[in-house]
Amino acid sequence: MLVVQKFGGTSVGDLDRIENVAKRVAKTRAQGNDVVVVVSAMSGETNKLTDYAHHFSKTPRKKEMDLLLSSGERVTSALLSIALNEMGTPAVAMTGREAGILTDASHTMARISNIDPKPMIDAVEEGKVVVVAGFQGISADGKVTTLGRGGSDLSAVAIAGAIEADLCEIYTDVDGIYTTDPRIEPDAHKMHKISYDEMLELASLGAKVLQNRSVELAKKLDLNLVVRSSFNENEGTLITKEDKMMEEVLVSGVALDKNQARIDLRGVADRPGIASEIFNALSKENINVDMIVQTISKDGATSLDFTVPQSELESVKSVMQNFSESINEIEYNDEIVKVSIVGVGMKNHSGIAALAFETLAKENINIQMISTSEIKVSMVIDKKYGELAVRALHSAYEL
Ligand code: ASP
Ligand code: MG
Repeated sequence: MLVVQKFGGTSVGDLDRIENVAKRVAKTRAQGNDVVVVVSAMSGETNKLTDYAHHFSKTPRKKEMDLLLSSGERVTSALLSIALNEMGTPAVAMTGREAGILTDASHTMARISNIDPKPMIDAVEEGKVVVVAGFQGISADGKVTTLGRGGSDLSAVAIAGAIEADLCEIYTDVDGIYTTDPRIEPDAHKMHKISYDEMLELASLGAKVLQNRSVELAKKLDLNLVVRSSFNENEGTLITKEDKMMEEVLVSGVALDKNQARIDLRGVADRPGIASEIFNALSKENINVDMIVQTISKDGATSLDFTVPQSELESVKSVMQNFSESINEIEYNDEIVKVSIVGVGMKNHSGIAALAFETLAKENINIQMISTSEIKVSMVIDKKYGELAVRALHSAYEL
């Protein structure tokens, strides 16, 4: 098999851990596989470098930031390759440039535009393990770029696609994807297998584990992804195409998003174009609107409620100042959370949402907002009931 193995920051967090990773890679190689490894910077390194830059400037040029931040991944790739060679496993380290990773020119959040697989394939054919520095590439004019925080997951998936790997393994510090956060519900268990779409919808569960952009790309490439721990031999969670078996499970996971704020617009002038004006103004400020609920209008006015990440609440407030003429009253509330149940089985079964509402009702939890997609039901509730709701839903769906 041709395997891509990606090791995150904690997995290469110190020299002993890099040594362990080297042993693991050497073992995979010894079992007869060809291996391309993608590494993150040692944990904390990217933040440390960012702080260094901020010591001198609040707004460092992005080009310099890319040069600076990309060095973290280079360190780990070189060290891992040195360790592998010392163990008798021939290896070669490559920067993003050497590995043929071309991106656009948006420094600090570049998109991969093309990967020339030849340098990596040639080295693999010479019998070497290739160790690529993740999170980076070069723009058409030869400048170093980085892919945005958490971007080495994306490097791994894109490389796996370009070299047509059979599998992409993402090694991290947890055993896989759980039915919910085990710190909230001790009965949460690791999922054996989950579809790309479920993984995307469970973002708040998986975000710390796997960057969403990389899941989207894996889906596009139809690439099997496995999330597993580098600290033990446990099996991990396979993220893959939806299959019949998955549909028999009504709900696969329960997610809690504590990072939302609710904005209520009351007495909104009910005329064509008002929603477009409001949400265009928000999008111009790059504000990420999540749920939107509009009620049917009465007496020429309507109510419009929506949620945004808490960190964007201040920007929303300043945008809303421009709408004082068409909106009567605005209320901001960050004492809320969003709980979601997710499962591809919802597509073909009824009563799933009703059970969620009934479960919260039994706990006397008021639902403030509801939104649904084909495979998800999300509910906004008071923050203080968030964890209780997760536990109640987890047991209601017999997870
Ligand atoms: N080192 C980068 C970061 O911390 C990229 C990554 O780890 O995926 O965001
Ligand atoms: Mg990471």
